[in-house]
Amino acid sequence: MREVELFMNVVALEVGGAYVKGCVLGSDDVLRDRERWLTRPERGPDAVLETVLDCAAALARRSRAVAAGIVVPGVVDDSSGIAVLAGALGWRQVPVRSWAAEHLEVPVALGHDVRAGGLAEARLGAGRGSRNFLFVSVGTGIAAAWVLDGRVVPGSQGAGGELGHLVVRPGGELCHCGGRGCLETIASSPALTHRYSRLARWRGVGAGELYHRADAGDTVARAVCAEAVEALAAVLATAVTLYAPELLVIGGELGDGGGERLAPLQGALARRLTFQSMPEVLPAAFGDRSGCMGAALLAREIRREVAAS
Ligand SMILES: [Zn+2]
Repeated sequence: MREVELFMNVVALEVGGAYVKGCVLGSDDVLRDRERWLTRPERGPDAVLETVLDCAAALARRSRAVAAGIVVPGVVDDSSGIAVLAGALGWRQVPVRSWAAEHLEVPVALGHDVRAGGLAEARLGAGRGSRNFLFVSVGTGIAAAWVLDGRVVPGSQGAGGELGHLVVRPGGELCHCGGRGCLETIASSPALTHRYSRLARWRGVGAGELYHRADAGDTVARAVCAEAVEALAAVLATAVTLYAPELLVIGGELGDGGGERLAPLQGALARRLTFQSMPEVLPAAFGDRSGCMGAALLAREIRREVAAS
């Protein structure tokens, strides 16, 4: 039995601007060997790629994996396995799939982090059984995947769902995308921690800790979170108007806190809707690991494709 489980192991990596999250998925659908490494993109794109390949290789060796899935943010061409533009990692036209396959000596799938998260929530998580839902990841970046009849709709060139770059404050702070006043300048994890450190004069507080402080009654943390919630609700109201989802599944660091943490967002969204139906709002079943689970599912798919060919 042990041998069978080991045989089915796949490695999954979610590469973000702050961390590379890795894990192993066995045939029982349970994520194991959860690890996290610092991305440190300031080292340059080649060093980040080296970290990704080394982390994947370490996990693959230990688990005797038969395939690997890697998901990244930005514009991703799933079919050619190329990270077209991942600004947070400094990557442009990086053929991740072929390089990783060569390095790991197993089939590799490349996908988009949030679309993969949506896939995982649709198949095994909070979106199971829903025909029309939005998976919204709120962390270092903010983006959504629209899942319709169990399939993630990628938009042309895989560039859909970039909710983080909807403008909520015209002429506001400069965003890394080149625009001003985007949602990410207010509600992403780095924006939250930046504002908190400025107002509370307390450095080094990450978004997860900041949410905890707000829950515990820290007034500055509460004010920072409330501002982010209002901005997020404004964008979600737009998304609800456009897609009429029956369900919003919130992932990333915000969704990792469970349903209670989402109550203010739910309230703020309900207040903004007029004729639209209020969707159910649920935390992601995989917390901030939806992308990793999605990467594992992509790895299984590529394994099946290779085995069938
Ligand atoms: Zn932007």
